[in-house]
Amino acid sequence: MFRILIVLAVALLPALGHAQDKLPYPQHYTVLTNDFADILSPEAEAAINAELSAARARSGREMTVVTIRSREDYLPSADIVSFSKALFNGWGIGNSEKNDGLLLLVAIDDREIRIALGAGYPARQDGVAARIIQTQIVPAFREGRIADGILAGTRAALSQIRHPSDAEPTLSVVPTGAQDIQQRPVAKPEGVVQNVLAFMGDHPLGAAFLAALTALAGFFGGRYVQRYRPRKCPQCGNVMLRLGQAQEDQYLEHGQLVEERVKSKDYGVWFCTNDEHVTVIGYPVLFSKKAACPQCNYHTYETERFVKTPATTSSEGVAQLNHSCHNCHHKATETVSIPRVTESSNSRSSFSSGGSSSSSFGGGSSSGGGASGSW
Ligand SMILES: [Zn+2]
Ligand SMILES: [Zn+2]
Repeated sequence: MFRILIVLAVALLPALGHAQDKLPYPQHYTVLTNDFADILSPEAEAAINAELSAARARSGREMTVVTIRSREDYLPSADIVSFSKALFNGWGIGNSEKNDGLLLLVAIDDREIRIALGAGYPARQDGVAARIIQTQIVPAFREGRIADGILAGTRAALSQIRHPSDAEPTLSVVPTGAQDIQQRPVAKPEGVVQNVLAFMGDHPLGAAFLAALTALAGFFGGRYVQRYRPRKCPQCGNVMLRLGQAQEDQYLEHGQLVEERVKSKDYGVWFCTNDEHVTVIGYPVLFSKKAACPQCNYHTYETERFVKTPATTSSEGVAQLNHSCHNCHHKATETVSIPRVTESSNSRSSFSSGGSSSSSFGGGSSSGGGASGSW
């Protein structure tokens, strides 16, 4: 019996050792920008840090920016939401009483973005975070300008996401109802959404409704309106007909059809019955993980990531990225290093100690609020 136990123990040891090498999330080396993915130039990092430091000096608000290669470099997490929440609470970002911390997390190889909010933010700020991701971060990321997107997202988060303890600037425009909304041009659905939200925010039940509504409206409502509004023929001015899925394919190029098949883009095809003019418009699909192919430029480029050697507390790991294009079949392989896992005491005490020390956070927590995006 004893011998069996020893055999079992020996067999299990490597597995245990392995599990202990990985942590749920990385440990911070600064309270400003933790660029674990190593994608920011020193200049970009300095610019982002300047924003973060200014906010700390101005209002004491702690925001931190984190880049990682992939969540797979750490212990398994269900999604970016649970990963960022664990990191947020593990680090203790924000003031422990106000819970006003902010986290901008980017997982480069996973193509995931998360703005996580401290527990002190009202739910409606989730919608603000969602809008910042869609308008400030995703467009820049889609063009490969990661540092620009992070900087713009950081600025927007610090200036637009409001905590109840912020000095409330009096709103100069108070929406009065339907009349005000109807005067808005139809082409600006976001303005309408904002008015409705501001209106509802004054009502007690409104707030709970707001996060979901804003996220839905911002993500899909605006896109839907954009997508299905009647279009006029640029040649004759007639209202054009939007073709159905079956009819539109003949007007799409091979690469565009592949984009639709791999669900990275949707295409709408409008047809003028008067002069047979055709307008093709492509819409990026949210949460698509397909990048633009460096060879054919269609959003049909897929990356698979394999951890060849996991990172440990003593050495860097190695991951292999296999890129392949569903359209032109261009292939490329890339080896990237996984940053060394920083030694962890797994205790909150080192982060929640108060004071204004620049090397620790204030001990704030998050209950999972915020917004996610992908590019
Ligand atoms: Zn026409
Ligand atoms: Zn290609």
